[in-house]
Amino acid sequence: MNVYDSDKVSALLLCSGMSKVEELDDADVVVLNTCHVREKAKHKVYTELGYLRERKEARFAEGKPFIIAVGGCVAQAEGAKMLERAPFVDIVFGPHTYNELPNMIRSVRKPTDDGDHVALETAHLEIFFKNKRPRLLNIGFSSEDKYKSLPFLNVEKKSAYLAIQEGCDKFCTYCVVPHTRGREVSRDAQAIIQEAKSMAASGVCEITLLGQNVNSYRYEDVSEKWLFADLIRAVCEIDGIKRVFYTSSHPVDVTLDLIKAHAELPQLMPFWHLPVQSGSTNVLRAMNRHYSVDDYKRTVDNIRKYNPDIAMCSDFIVGFPGEDDEAFEQTLELVRYVNYAQAFSFKYSPRPNTVACDLPDQVDDSVKAERLARLQSLLREQQTQFNTNCIGQTLSVLFQKHGKCSNQVLGKSQFMQSVVLHTPNPEMYMNSIRNVFITGATLSCLEGRIVN
Ligand code: SAH
Ligand code: SF4
Repeated sequence: MNVYDSDKVSALLLCSGMSKVEELDDADVVVLNTCHVREKAKHKVYTELGYLRERKEARFAEGKPFIIAVGGCVAQAEGAKMLERAPFVDIVFGPHTYNELPNMIRSVRKPTDDGDHVALETAHLEIFFKNKRPRLLNIGFSSEDKYKSLPFLNVEKKSAYLAIQEGCDKFCTYCVVPHTRGREVSRDAQAIIQEAKSMAASGVCEITLLGQNVNSYRYEDVSEKWLFADLIRAVCEIDGIKRVFYTSSHPVDVTLDLIKAHAELPQLMPFWHLPVQSGSTNVLRAMNRHYSVDDYKRTVDNIRKYNPDIAMCSDFIVGFPGEDDEAFEQTLELVRYVNYAQAFSFKYSPRPNTVACDLPDQVDDSVKAERLARLQSLLREQQTQFNTNCIGQTLSVLFQKHGKCSNQVLGKSQFMQSVVLHTPNPEMYMNSIRNVFITGATLSCLEGRIVN
């Protein structure tokens, strides 16, 4: 989601007449986009800001401008605190207001008393002054549809993200997202389809639909009611769209229709990111996930009944408050039951204003670290096995990147694996979907040769 937002911010700034520079030293404006999901991310932001402060002082000494804008969920959560703690930051804005960034930048560039102050639309805007220099805090939850003002830039990429939903209503007890990204809002289905068509027209062939719970997508207009599977069908029908992924989905909102869509639509890739978080029903209850381990297993069984070859992916949190040895062992058991192709796993990180922060029985960091290592070792084993099983198969690969060596081109398979091709002519394969016969596999990469 942050990659999507950052791309949109870049597009907005380019459309407003700015250009990108390769070196930080050449920048007049720096925009940081931030994530607040785990604590480390916030530390990283302040560390990065410390570095930017030095750059700003150096630029000021040379009489050059250096505007620092911080957006995303850390900015949203910190708000005025960030302006206080980092007095050299000029603009603090949230995920709901970044469409106004070009005007915000114009506004802080000009001294406000010269009569040329740019009007900003967001009601929640606050302006602070430091040495007559305006500083902006713009973290409102605007009811305006920000997507209407976001440009899509044709950057000759073959794959693109497409946000279909903002925010989340699930309130998992560990999670900061509903607090920073706000309530769940599904975007207008026709607007999404229109955007997908413009992407296809500019050459995009792979779209990843984005949202916190894409499968709870629901949109009604005067004549029609859209659920997630309906939207997927419509996107898959667009000429030129050959591959569709989505992320993330929530186990409670998996419908039979969505499971069947995977079986029916060749464009819908056989990869399902279905975060479970824990293999203990007690922990899941404390997390407010609204399903038991058996519910999750039944859902996976059903997905596989219709789609035997699908690659399952998940997220895990270890060391949630109250997770004892037995609960953790149950997580390992679930992992063995499902057999994942990929996974993301994290130590529980207490987040401000979340319920889990105040729960008793917080787990020691050393225990969390030990559990994470055990879990990741099992997940790595499964991922390596999944990849090894692909040797001898022909996969469909979208090539889009150069490799480390000049004779390599890198792509992604329909199961989201990285695939490397050794060829004297990488450009020949760049930006195309090819059938690749897999000849080798490691934990993180496959290699193979082109099949005509
Ligand atoms: N909406 C998505 C997840 C968004 S956050 C979903 O529900 O699947 C991405 C992942 O970060 C989560 O799935 C979870 O595994 C992890 N995460 C979120 N909050 C966390 C926290 N406080 N500590 C550790 N990991 C967390
Ligand atoms: Fe966070 Fe839960 Fe919403 Fe995912 S579903 S964003 S984990 S509250």
